[in-house]
Order: sequence, then C-alpha cells, then structure tokens
Amino acid sequence: MNSRRQFLQKLTASLITVPFLPLEDLSAPAGPDNTPYAGPVLRVAIMGLGGYANRVAEAMRACKKAKIAGVVSGTPAKITDWQTRFRIPDKNCYNYTNFDKMIDNPDIDAVYVITPNGLHHDHVIRAAKAGKHVICEKPMAVNAKEGQEMVDACKKANVQLLVGYRMHFEPKTLEIIRMRNAGEFGKVQFFQGLSGFVIGDPTQWRLNKQLAGGGAMMDIGIYSVNGMRYMLGEEPIWVTAEETKTDPVKFAVGVDETIQFQAGFPSGAIASCLSTYNMNFLDRFFLTGEKGFAELNPATGYGPILGRTNKGELSFLHVAHQTIQMEEMSDIILKGKQPIVPVNGEEAVKDLKIIDAIYKAAKEGKKILL
Ligand code: NAD
Repeated sequence: MNSRRQFLQKLTASLITVPFLPLEDLSAPAGPDNTPYAGPVLRVAIMGLGGYANRVAEAMRACKKAKIAGVVSGTPAKITDWQTRFRIPDKNCYNYTNFDKMIDNPDIDAVYVITPNGLHHDHVIRAAKAGKHVICEKPMAVNAKEGQEMVDACKKANVQLLVGYRMHFEPKTLEIIRMRNAGEFGKVQFFQGLSGFVIGDPTQWRLNKQLAGGGAMMDIGIYSVNGMRYMLGEEPIWVTAEETKTDPVKFAVGVDETIQFQAGFPSGAIASCLSTYNMNFLDRFFLTGEKGFAELNPATGYGPILGRTNKGELSFLHVAHQTIQMEEMSDIILKGKQPIVPVNGEEAVKDLKIIDAIYKAAKEGKKILL
C-alpha cells in the first residue's frame, strides 16, 4: 500500500475513535479515545468568538495535540461564556485593546485569528509582535500586498504563520491528490470549481467592503481559487473573469455578487470556476485527465465530503475538519512537520495574487498574466 494512503488511514483511524461533536454531521460511531499522547500540546488563544470560532472550539475538544488556552474578544459576556465552557483562567483573557500584553504570557503558544477578513492584517501582525505563532482564517488578507506584509511581519518576529485551509488535511481530497501524483488520471487537463450560496442578512460584515475586502470571491470563491491549485497541482499563469450583478443595492461597489473566472496552467491544463453569493447548491470540484476523473461534491463544506473517481467511491470516514486541522497544525508548529499541501502564509499570498488578478480581469475585461 502506498505510504500516503497508509498515512491517511492512520490519521482517520486515530481520529475516528475520539468523542464526537454536536456541530458536525458525522458518519462514524462515537467512542472514547484511549490512545495516550505524551507529546507537546499547542496552547491556542482564539481571537473573535463568533460563528466559526465556536465551530473550531467545539471540534478542538477532540484534539490531543492542541487545546484552547485563552481568548480575545470585545464582548465581556462572550469571554465569561467561553471561560466556563473551556475552563479558561482570567489571566488568559484579553480584549482587542490589550491583547499585545500576551507577550508576557508564557501559557499561550499561538493565536487563532477568526475575525472579519479586513481585520486579519492588524490582528495577525500584533499577535506576531506579541511573540505568538499565528493561525489566521481565510482569506488571510484582503489583497496580496497586505498578505505579504503579514508574512514578513511573522518572519521578522520569528513566529510561524498558518492559514485555516482545512481542506488541505481532508482525507478524500488528499487521496485525489495522491492519485493525481501517481499518474492515475493520466495527464490532467481540466478543473471545474463551483463555489456559492445565497447570502442572507444584507447588514452583515460579509457584505461590507471594508470588513470583507470584497464579496463572494473573498468568502466562498476562494475555495475554487485554492482548490484549482491543489487539485491540478500547478500555479496558474493567466486568468480571465466576468462579473455579473443582479442586486447592486445588496452588493454595493466593491462587493462582488457573481464572478466566473478561468485560468490557464503551465502544463496546458485549464480551469473554469464560479463564485457567487446568489445561487445555492454550488460546492463541487471536478477534475479530468486523459485516463480518469475525480469529483468532490460537496467539495469544501463542513462534511461529510463526498468523493468519487473513475475507479469508484472514496470511502474515508468523516472526522470534523477542524479537529484534524488543529492536530496537524500542532505538529507543524511544534514538531516542524511538513503538510502534504502547504498551509503557510506564502500559500495564502499565492491565492491573494490570483484573486487580485481575477478582480483586475473582471474590471478591465482582459486576460491578466500572472
Ligand atoms: P462571525 O461574524 O460569526 O464572527 C466574527 C467575530 O469577530 C465576532 O465574534 C465579532 O464579534 C468579532 N469582531 C471583532 N471585531 C469586529 C468588527 N469590527 N466587526 C464585526 N465583527 C467583529 O464570522 P465568522 O463566520 O466566524 O467568520 C470569521 C472569519 O472566519 C472570517 O475570516 C471567515 O472568512 C472565516 N471563516 C472560515 C471558515 C472555514 O471553513 N475555514 C468558515 C467560516 C468563517
């Protein structure tokens, strides 16, 4: 058996025995985790206690290599709630004004930034200056320039910067990457990525250019941008794009509703993708080569992910993505482990350069070379 396949089976086997979590639709039975772990544990402070932070925190209950050690929030009531739920001492609780003081707190190794996109730049750079490793949610920044500044700041502070690309650890996704690398699809020729949903409340930060950095592309289209890269295993050399808008009130200037984009790759492979805040049931990746195909549908939701290839269904058991992500990120930060698909700040800057180019292509109506 191929060693990567063994790795994936070992990974899911070690995780499927942990107690399961209320937020996930899990396909495997629950059970106690009796496997002892004596290695180092990543002590994480979560910044921004909103919807996704709660999902991450609940998934981290099943982690052995990472634990919640602190919080950063502007809302005292949320801090009290999290202190109760995760047994966080007063000395590890901060707000957005005083979290720089973490520099004096040896009980926190890393800060996980889960605030609105437009705030990531400031929050990541300050966490790095406080001497903490940083995990930042996607999109890491609102453009490549800001992203590069964050990478540089973390290098200067001698801390690691990782991005919450949870699909980079997802077993079915990794199995397709293994098959592609082994030549099982032959020469890969085409990728299709469909990423979208109908967004609700028009007053939310996701529809505010300042806080979101854009619209659907920043929030959900980024899955197809990132996905075309890891599914094809190459970096694009050009993009074209077309934007359509049916509701210019809900989607103001600078907040994209729907963008179709295409990309070309050095091997000759091409990609065609859709990013939208105005259509549901769009979470599908499709890859085709001269000898076979792979499909993920859903491809990037919270799971279970469904995958099949020309050889049949992929059948890894589902584990909360955030549990696997945090176990693996602990190993990356504390043990120097190299992930199969990178999750560092440089990886995020590559996505942001492509997103910058997609916006430019849509605006100018021209092919943009990368
Ligand atoms: P959310 O609105 O539920 O939570 C955002 C949190 O940031 C809230 O607790 C809010 O109080 C806090 N906040 C701090 N300053 C704020 C300000 N000035 N304005 C508004 N809120 C402020 O959003 P979310 O869904 O948790 O998203 C947070 C981040 O996580 C985003 O970058 C998003 O793209 C990312 N995310 C990633 C995934 C994933 O699957 N990887 C899923 C959802 C969200």
